[in-house]
This record gives sequence, structure tokens and C-alpha cells, in this order.
Amino acid sequence: MVKTEREYRDDIVQIGRLVFQKGWIAANDGNISVRLDAERILCTPTGVCKGLMHPDDLIIVDCKGNKISGRRERTSEIAMHLTVYEMRPEIKAVVHAHPPLGCVPLAAYGLPGTPELTEPMLPLIPKYDALLMANHGAVCYGEDLFQAYFRMETMEHFARIHLVAELLGGAKVLPRPEVDKLLDARTRYGVKAKVSGEPGCPVSAEEVAPAGGEERFYVTRSELVGLVDEALKARGMA
Ligand SMILES: [Zn+2]
Repeated sequence: MVKTEREYRDDIVQIGRLVFQKGWIAANDGNISVRLDAERILCTPTGVCKGLMHPDDLIIVDCKGNKISGRRERTSEIAMHLTVYEMRPEIKAVVHAHPPLGCVPLAAYGLPGTPELTEPMLPLIPKYDALLMANHGAVCYGEDLFQAYFRMETMEHFARIHLVAELLGGAKVLPRPEVDKLLDARTRYGVKAKVSGEPGCPVSAEEVAPAGGEERFYVTRSELVGLVDEALKARGMA
């Protein structure tokens, strides 16, 4: 079912509010777009808090990023959205935010607002639906706005799990055959992005240096809280 432009405007406003409330962006960070048709992209403008937008704040640009309509100015990061749309014809929506953490493919740093931002992402876009952007943030895309948003939410959720696992001594990585089985199972859940099984992405036990010893140890609840506090302090996070 194709939505009307008005409905897409309402969707973007709603997603903007969610991304802002989740703390994945602050102030005027981030940007969201939807492909309206072959020639037009509806997107958030620059200089607006994405949590406080009105549907009329959104602007429409063409495939080259030139503004077609809207009273506000376009974001310098629109080129990154356009690159994703160009390389992935099935993708209809892009959400870019600055979530505090993550662990998905990492595109090397490129100065935001310049072509260098998109350059390191080019080899990753065809293979992944979520990318981290070094020293910057993250971008997720999907066949509709909510899929793009949920991918951002999933990535952030995974990042939090990873942080907690790290504080508790590090995640236990699965052996390669198990990782491969999980990758195969993804098609059942409608995940279309291909992971080529490059070394280190995703990580399997064979690629991780064996941790010293299998010895188990037990801690009380208060000892555990103390350990977590200490780890946070050591990382300057508390
Ligand atoms: Zn950004």
C-alpha cells in the first residue's frame, strides 16, 4: 500500500520524535528521508530539532539533492541518503542518527557535509542495512520508514547488550558453524542484506584469541554492582 505524501510527512515527524526521545540525537542532529517516487525524496531539513518537527518543516529534493519545495534549507548530509537510494533500489527510507554506541560495520571517518563522508561507506552499503560512521554516528535504511527506524533501534539495543557483556567480562562468541547457521536463518526473518562472510564480520570464536583459562568465579550482587561501577569509572563514564 503506497502512502500519500501527507502520511509520509506524519511518519517522519513521528520517527523524529522517537529517535529524539531515545536519546540517539541531541539538538538538531540526525536526518530522516523517504523516497516518494523515482525523482523525489522527502527529507528533514537542516537546523531543526528532529524531535520537535511540524510536517510542513520537511522539504523535497530531487535525485541530485537540489531542493524542489519547502521553506527550510536542506541538510548537508542529504548526499549520504542519496547514495544509499542510488546503490539500493529497493530501499525506500533512511534514518541517520548519532546513537552513543554500536558494533556493526564501521565506515572510516569522512568530514560530514563533504563527499568524503560517503566515500568509505560505498563498499558497505550493498551488503549491510546498518552502518556505523567513525567519529560521527550511524545510518540505517529500509523498505519503509519504520523498518529503517527499527534497524536503528535494534542496533542501539545490541550496542547496549554488548556494553553490559563487556562490563561483565566480555561476550562469549559462537563458533563459525553456529554463526553460519544464524546467518542462513536470517532469510526466514525477511533479512535480505547479504553478508559476504568477510573475516571479522560477523566475528566467530575462531577469529578471537582464546581467553586465558576456563575458570568460573562467583560474585555476590553487591560485588557485581561494585565491579560495574569500577569499570564505568575506569572508562570515565561515571
Ligand atoms: Zn550526522
